[in-house]
Order: sequence, then structure tokens, then C-alpha cells
Amino acid sequence: MNTTKIFEKSIDLSITKSDIDNSLIGDVLSLSKLMEIAGAIRDYGKGNVITFSPKIFIPLTKLCRDTCGYCTFRKEPGYENPYMSPDEVLGLAQAGEKMGCTEALFTLGERPEQKYDVAKKWLVKYGYNSTIEYLVAMNRIVFEKTNLLPHSNPGTLSRRELKMLKPYNASMGLMLESISPSLYRENGPHEYAPSKRPSVRIKTISLAGEEKIAFTTGLLVGIGDSFEEQVDGIYKIKEINDEYGHIQEVIIQNFRPKINTLLNGTPPPKEEYMLRLVSIARIILGPYMNIQVPPNISIGGYGQYINAGINDWGGVSPLTIDHVNPEAPWPQLKNLKLVTEKYGYELQPRLPIYSEYLSESGTFVSQAMDDKIRNRLLVG
Ligand code: SF4
Repeated sequence: MNTTKIFEKSIDLSITKSDIDNSLIGDVLSLSKLMEIAGAIRDYGKGNVITFSPKIFIPLTKLCRDTCGYCTFRKEPGYENPYMSPDEVLGLAQAGEKMGCTEALFTLGERPEQKYDVAKKWLVKYGYNSTIEYLVAMNRIVFEKTNLLPHSNPGTLSRRELKMLKPYNASMGLMLESISPSLYRENGPHEYAPSKRPSVRIKTISLAGEEKIAFTTGLLVGIGDSFEEQVDGIYKIKEINDEYGHIQEVIIQNFRPKINTLLNGTPPPKEEYMLRLVSIARIILGPYMNIQVPPNISIGGYGQYINAGINDWGGVSPLTIDHVNPEAPWPQLKNLKLVTEKYGYELQPRLPIYSEYLSESGTFVSQAMDDKIRNRLLVG
């Protein structure tokens, strides 16, 4: 298939698995040609704007019932208080508001009360049955008392939990990470992480679609699966979005080795590998999907991912560190702007829910959320 045909099929959202196998994975196209097509597809759907979300990072709890072979976010009990208090959450949100942030990213460990008594007892003491119940309460405080919009990443969720969270979250997220079964076999990075089974993650992402929640997902690249499996993962995301239309953003994130983890000796994916995968993601997902590479952890200079077809840098915080990658500082906004402009694009802030999901008031966001966004955040 020639490059014009690939472009046309991508615009029509009709690139098939065999198109990819025959033309792209088989190294028929050079990386530069692949990036050229991906960049043209992004330009067709997104114009010359690259976005970012000014955010604060709220690590509500770092306790987690799972253990992933690359994670240093997770802590054992005793490291610090099991949960951030309501005053800490609100104080952080108010400080972020003063600095012009609009997103309150709640990232936390998966259901720690199922593993640790200290978490269970803390929740009972303060009147909550679960971490998710406490998260809902903290989302609500931020939603009602500040201009920030919560976006929660609490792990796998039931339909009931998604319904509880939706009124106070502009959007939510769960990385698919990978669809490979090899990762949860003996000695794999997900052996002790039942929430990382692809089937349970696909279930949560699909339930969020049924509940009409604007959703962020993506891949974690380099943790032991193959390039072909990663491409299959992108197809899986497309398939879910084709059914529900709620995937607002796909993150193609590279793994980074960290000391004292199982994968410490595993090298991160190479720059060319990531550029190829990001380009293929744009070709598969088409011109209208928001595709993000986080600039603080990307391999090589982050600007070149613009040429591979991304249109978003994700959350960038002027106040809080990246608690998942604490060794990797966010770029300063002036540098992000300079790099984006150097590649010929304009940097613009966005809300944690993309504007295309605001047009259907009462569908993807509650009336109260819609009112808050329109009256307090989109003025002027
Ligand atoms: S990556 Fe998430 S699920 Fe895995 S151990 Fe860390 S906090 Fe828990």
C-alpha cells in the first residue's frame, strides 16, 4: 500500500491490522516516511495546536494491594500516613488554583484496604467503607470548593464505583498498559498485580464507555511485550472506542527502569522504537484522537514526537512533582512553549476533559460539571 492510500485509510478510520502488518511493521516504510504520514494525519484532524493540561498531582494514597515490577510509587505501610487528609487535599488544590491549574489529578494505589489493616482501619475511623468512597469525598471537596476539575486514576472499577465517581470527575483514566499475557506469567512484571490483567482493565474501560465517562488510556511501552503486541493493544483501544466513543486520549508512554524494582536491569525502549510506535498509533487511531507523549519522561528530545503525530503533552504541573516518576521534572512552561513553537506548532492549555466531550451536555458530564466548566472555566 502506498503512502497516499495509508493516509486516506487513516482519515477514514479504516486502517486494518493487515494494512499495518504488510506496510508498516514489516519495515517497508522508513521511519521518516512513517512520521511524515502520521504528522500529516495529525495536521488534518488537529491543525497546528499542541495542548497541555495545567495540573496538580494528588497522590491520595501510595499503599496498593498490587505489586508491579517497575513501580516506585507504591509504598509499604509506615512510610507516611495511609491517606492524605481532607485538609491536605484541599490545601494542595487551593494552592494549585492560585497558580492557574485547572486539573486535579488523583492518582492512587489499587484498593489498599484489601491488603493492609492500617488502610482499612483508617477508612473505618473516618467513616468510609473503601478507598473509592474516600476518593469520591475528596473529588467532591475539590469540585465544590475550588475551580479545579478532578480527573481520577484509581485503578480498576466496578460499574457502581464509576457511577459514584462520575458526578465529580470531568474525566477519568486507566492505562491499558499492555494486552500481552506474558507479563503476568511467573517472573513477569505483573505476576503480583491482578488488576493488571488485560481482561479486567478492558472491562473497566468498557464499563466507563457504557457509563459515558470521557476516558484516558494508553500503553506502557518496554515492560516485556513485543512490538506486535503493542500494536494489537492500540487496535484494542480503537475497538473499544469504536463501540463507545468515550476514549478522549491515548497515552503512548515509555517505561523507565527504576532502582529496587524487578525491571531495573531492563533497558527502556529506544528513541526510534518509540517514534515508530507513536506514528503507527496516529495512523491506526486516525486524525481526531488525542495522542499524548509525556514530555518529562520521553526518550530523546520530546519535540520530535510532534513530528510523529502527537497533539498533546498531558498534565504539566507548576507545583507538584510527578509522583510516579519523581526523578523526572516537568519541563518549564516557557520551554514547552519554545520547543512546541520550534517545531511549528502553537502550545495551548486545555481542561482535563477535551472540548469535543463538552458539546453533549448531560451525556459525558453531569449538569453541575457542565455548569462549572462553562460558567467558571470557559469565561473570557
Ligand atoms: S503501578 Fe499502580 S497497581 Fe502497580 S504497584 Fe504501582 S500503584 Fe500499584
